[in-house]
Amino acid sequence: MTDAISLARTAEETFRPLTLASNLAWWDSNVDATDENARRRADAELAYSDALSDRELYGAIEAARGNGADPARARVLELYSSAMLPHQISSSLRERIVELETSVETRFSRHRGAMSGEPVDDNRIKQILRESQDPEERREAWEASKTVGREVADDVRELARMRNEAARSLGYRDWFALSLTTDEMDEDKLLETLAAADRATAEPFARWKSSLDMRLAERFGCDVSELRPWHYADPFFQEPPPEGAVDLDPLFKGKDVVALARRTFEGLGFAVEGILDRSDLYPRAGKNQHAFCIDIDRGGDVRVLANVVDNHSWTDTMLHELGHGVYDLGFDDQLSWVLRDTHLVTTEASALLFGALAGDREWLERILEVDVGEADELEGRLRAARAAELLVFTRWVLVMNAFERALYGDPERDLDAVWWELVARHQLLTPPEGRSAPDWAAKIHIAVAPVYYHTYLYGAIVAAQVKDALRSAAGGLVDRPEAGKLLVRKLYAPGASIRWDKLVEQASGKPLSVDSLAREVAAA
Ligand SMILES: [Zn+2]
Repeated sequence: MTDAISLARTAEETFRPLTLASNLAWWDSNVDATDENARRRADAELAYSDALSDRELYGAIEAARGNGADPARARVLELYSSAMLPHQISSSLRERIVELETSVETRFSRHRGAMSGEPVDDNRIKQILRESQDPEERREAWEASKTVGREVADDVRELARMRNEAARSLGYRDWFALSLTTDEMDEDKLLETLAAADRATAEPFARWKSSLDMRLAERFGCDVSELRPWHYADPFFQEPPPEGAVDLDPLFKGKDVVALARRTFEGLGFAVEGILDRSDLYPRAGKNQHAFCIDIDRGGDVRVLANVVDNHSWTDTMLHELGHGVYDLGFDDQLSWVLRDTHLVTTEASALLFGALAGDREWLERILEVDVGEADELEGRLRAARAAELLVFTRWVLVMNAFERALYGDPERDLDAVWWELVARHQLLTPPEGRSAPDWAAKIHIAVAPVYYHTYLYGAIVAAQVKDALRSAAGGLVDRPEAGKLLVRKLYAPGASIRWDKLVEQASGKPLSVDSLAREVAAA
């Protein structure tokens, strides 16, 4: 027992300062992208990953777990063990994996596709796929978006082999199985949930897509049977095309987005002033152009990086990031450092729950003060747009997850064929005739964020489920302090002291299920 206590203390003394240093370096390198900050960040991350590979500490933790610590202590040791497990592989294999990952990631950043001999970046490709009326230009842009695949495919396949070798050396079937274990995800439950998501979305998606296809055929003056992947609005058909979407931007023009976000959280009894004071919220040269929320010290120093402008998408993003932030501030004070942490699924669910408010009828009326008539007029269209987004996204995650399962199941198979078979089955796209290319390798996540994509879908499923629970318990979210209290008590306060799936059960009153998501997508 003393063993377990002193081990937990040693582990905290090891990992706490390294995590703090790496969080601060990460923040600095994102608000100010200098070479010096980049070097500090790489050093901090290396030091952290070296500590995770410490065999002696890992062995002692495993031995203490085998001796049966009390449940609270066992949970602490389990968390350290999960973090350290994937790093307990031969150091030469670990180095080869990191080296190849870095090399593939660098080639992704440097690569530009070409159209008529001229290099084009991703933004240009996306713009053509959104706007161009010329099918030939669209096909060229789509093909340009895939050329990176040929450049990295052999190495992505090699990465899968090496990751499998690492997983097998630790006693796991393959990398897919190891990743799920360290993320505390049950494989059978995942497959069952994805199958249920497939059943819940197949019919509404087919219906929605056939009406989209009719609109696209009309727009391009062709027959529905002639539509190919480049007729859709992004290279992977992971988002609904802009036609038919609701443009909320005019409602946000001239508004103070940060004040709206503050007001939203105040309405639920959350004080976000401290987060906003520490944050870096507006566009500036030399800083990261995206957005994130980071819990620097698990002791109240929570910050958001954003590039806020007065439109709908940045309001969604501000609410999203602060939805992560209030979670980090909601941990029970009694929790030890390692337990003051979130699971990716539940924190993403909290963020999605708040982000979606920027397109929610009640929020538009109460916080943005849109007049009732206009809100009435918008309501049905907003719901349909939201449903379409969830449908398209769910079908896309089904492709990604099934593909990764196939990849790690047997990296030597005909992956090009597997990819198009899945795209045709789940996304109902017609593969280009005679296409033979590693189009799967053009998706960067497969190379650098392996076996992760389903986490996004789980986040959306849990957000829908928690939203339903809050509606029946508190009437909704907007201006309901009762909903804020429930979120803190049932979702945020326990931190990582209980597994995420139990947390979902506690926060929503039932186990993870696609029922709420199914209801939401039925509005498409
Ligand atoms: Zn997020």
